[in-house]
Amino acid sequence: MMNIVLLGAPGSGKGTVSNLLEKTQNMAHIATGDMFREEIKNKTELGKKAQEYIDKGNLVPDEITINMLKGKMNEYKDSNGVVFDGFPRNIKQAEALEQMLKDKNQKVDLVLFLDIPDEEIIYRTVKRRICSNKECGAIYNLEYKKPKVDGICDICGSKLIQRKDDNEETITERLKVYHEQTKELIKYYEEKKLLYRVKLHANINITEEMTKEWLKSYNENR
Ligand SMILES: [Zn+2]
Repeated sequence: MMNIVLLGAPGSGKGTVSNLLEKTQNMAHIATGDMFREEIKNKTELGKKAQEYIDKGNLVPDEITINMLKGKMNEYKDSNGVVFDGFPRNIKQAEALEQMLKDKNQKVDLVLFLDIPDEEIIYRTVKRRICSNKECGAIYNLEYKKPKVDGICDICGSKLIQRKDDNEETITERLKVYHEQTKELIKYYEEKKLLYRVKLHANINITEEMTKEWLKSYNENR
């Protein structure tokens, strides 16, 4: 059993790393945002409760999130562990997660921090283009993953567009919020000697070998 908390700014490659860990380590990936959407869509008890808070413009209490995570973890009993993506976001949540895992005789084994310079995240995000055909949803990058024909999707031939949020101002704001939230959390996990920092750059494609190497080197150096 190995539980990994994934930390990193929006656009740092957390999705890619999660998918690779899922595939190579037989781990379950719990993205808290997706989990919320799913519970609300399926109108589960917890989903309905969460919706009430959201409707009132309030934050969903940690207790609800923790109970959702508990349920999710029970669905994934056969996996080798869980990758937590999007939770915890603060120390209080980190402590709640710890307690929840402790009740299952488990713990957070590793906090993988994808550290990539802000300016590179901004640069990469403004260069992102997505296929306007929602069924396709292919993602391109004018710098790192160009389409064969300018402005046209390789797969379905639809026009490529830029997401409204993929502009410098929005990303800068999002990064600011992210740093404010994560600063304390990074310190917290550093003190617990659980943090493994991976320095990344926007032009690097994260590979299966890289994730294996990180886990190996973390285990050797702890
Ligand atoms: Zn397409």
